[in-house]
Amino acid sequence: MHLAYPRLFQQSNNSNHSNHSNHSNHSNDPMDNASSGSAPSLIGGILSMKCPSCRKGRMFCNGSIFPLRQLLDMPERCPVCGQKMELEPGFYYGTGYVSYGLSVGILGVCAVVFGYTWGFSYKDNSVFWFLCISIGLLVVLQPWLMRMSRVLYLYPFVKYGQRRERK
Ligand SMILES: [Zn+2]
Repeated sequence: MHLAYPRLFQQSNNSNHSNHSNHSNHSNDPMDNASSGSAPSLIGGILSMKCPSCRKGRMFCNGSIFPLRQLLDMPERCPVCGQKMELEPGFYYGTGYVSYGLSVGILGVCAVVFGYTWGFSYKDNSVFWFLCISIGLLVVLQPWLMRMSRVLYLYPFVKYGQRRERK
């Protein structure tokens, strides 16, 4: 998994690049390829919940979600690059909105998948089953959602390769 994401990103990056710079000097391309190849991709970094600055250090102390009590334990600083994980006290206060948005998105995807595979009808209990399945899914995904919302919260503030400190 870790290897696959950067490769995907690299391919799309190359195609974008060649589209935009057909007229420009081709000698720049190998350098761009080399730099984007060594950098883990944004999507890969988010999905693997790595530090936004180096995309190598883990954002959470435990790789596993168990024990649940330590689910949201984060190191004070990234073990690889030293990026602060909580930019200021209470930084993650607003993550409830992010996980709410993610939950609504997952519900929407569930509704589309359910609608195409099973179909909604007034004649059977399809709406009931849809609610049971999607709420069950949301409960199961909750630990992942809580972590992912913190990841998505930190990423816009910290650019790749730039350590950001509290001002
Ligand atoms: Zn880092």
